[in-house]
Amino acid sequence: MRKKTILILNVFLLLSMLSIPVRAEGQSTGRVQQTQTPVVIVLDPGHGGKNDGTTENGFLEKSMTMVTALAAYEELQKYEGIEVYLTHTEDEDMSLKERAEFAASVNADFLFSIHYNASENHELFGSEVWISCAPPYHAYGYQFGWLQMKQMEEMGLSLRGIKTRQNNDKEDYYGVIRECVALEVPAVIIEHCHVDEPRDTVFLSSDEDLKAFGVADATSIARYFGLKSTILGVDYSTGVDYPAILPEEKNRLAFRDETAPDICIIEKQAIDTDDLTVTLDVSAADYDSMLLYYDYSLDGGLTYSTRQLWPDCNIYDGSYRDSFPLTLEIPEGTVNPSIVIRAYNNFDLFLESNTVKVEQVFSSARENSADQAISVLSEASDISSESLQTVTFTPDSQATDTASSKALKLKNFLGICVIIVIVLLIIVLTSQFIAMHQKSKRRRRKLADKRRERYDDKPNRNI
Ligand SMILES: [Zn+2]
Repeated sequence: MRKKTILILNVFLLLSMLSIPVRAEGQSTGRVQQTQTPVVIVLDPGHGGKNDGTTENGFLEKSMTMVTALAAYEELQKYEGIEVYLTHTEDEDMSLKERAEFAASVNADFLFSIHYNASENHELFGSEVWISCAPPYHAYGYQFGWLQMKQMEEMGLSLRGIKTRQNNDKEDYYGVIRECVALEVPAVIIEHCHVDEPRDTVFLSSDEDLKAFGVADATSIARYFGLKSTILGVDYSTGVDYPAILPEEKNRLAFRDETAPDICIIEKQAIDTDDLTVTLDVSAADYDSMLLYYDYSLDGGLTYSTRQLWPDCNIYDGSYRDSFPLTLEIPEGTVNPSIVIRAYNNFDLFLESNTVKVEQVFSSARENSADQAISVLSEASDISSESLQTVTFTPDSQATDTASSKALKLKNFLGICVIIVIVLLIIVLTSQFIAMHQKSKRRRRKLADKRRERYDDKPNRNI
């Protein structure tokens, strides 16, 4: 009896082990979410009515999201086995709770909230998907977000990743996700790109562009649900690469990293005054999440460049280059640039590097290189303030040469004059001295002659 129970337990254990999908990093699994047939999805054009959304740069988000959502709706009609709804089709006010309630009322498998983005300082660019932090919605959102990122990447956009944001109660920060999850409807926010950054606005030049985003959204939705379309001649029921759920050590990629990057160090490599460039070696790391952008300052941190994508950053696996050479073009006329780099993680938290001071005038080599006769490059570093390097440049300007040779000639002429005057003075003084000496000699001789004469005239008294 006991043996039988153990055997049954072992068989049960073996079977349950086999049924657990193995989710190693980089390995793809199937879709985690089980769905009904037909799949019911709700498209939610973000904002509407009094809620304009972003109005930066002359854009009106609520109109843009409607164009994109309607295009996605139309595209999804071409697929079989799907039922599609829109939360609204008119420019009207609708609360986030009402949107979630609508999705629940149609028994939706998923709500996709469609948005365009803008950042406070107009410095961010790229596409992102916000997902729920709560299981199992987190895994559903992550797998969809991954497919959506692939779609945006194919369109040529930079990627900001698949992320969660929580409020103080550790619930989802974004209302539409929170309200949907409360009603057990999986939901994500698609932030296609930014209306206030030139690297993104090139994708927003016409209504056709906004519609293209809608078609891309529809494609990733169709891929996520494994749909078929006879009209389009596509079948996503097989061959879709669903991502493995993030392993625990990479959780910070999706779960908000609350801390800034851990390391950011810069070292000087080379200065080129002909090309007006400074080359640095940049090293940085974020142990919790990943590095996404950097920017640089030439004035010791007062003003910064636009953000640049961190080399080889990969939002899918969180990898990035931990060090790379960076050649900065220094604007002509810059005097003694003080270089600082900021490394940003994928939650926009940054760490400032040490300062590299370049005591150098960056003016055109052909015009003014005589000013650059001697340059000193010093590195003021939090880590090491000892390194000091001197770089000497040879002046080669003809203009400054003639000016300095004129000055030299004048100097030489004055020098010669002074020498002549001194020599003349010496000659005059010497001749006067000789003349005086001869005069007194003659006088003494005369006196001696007179005395001798007087002596010769007197009789010798002793004789
Ligand atoms: Zn929005």
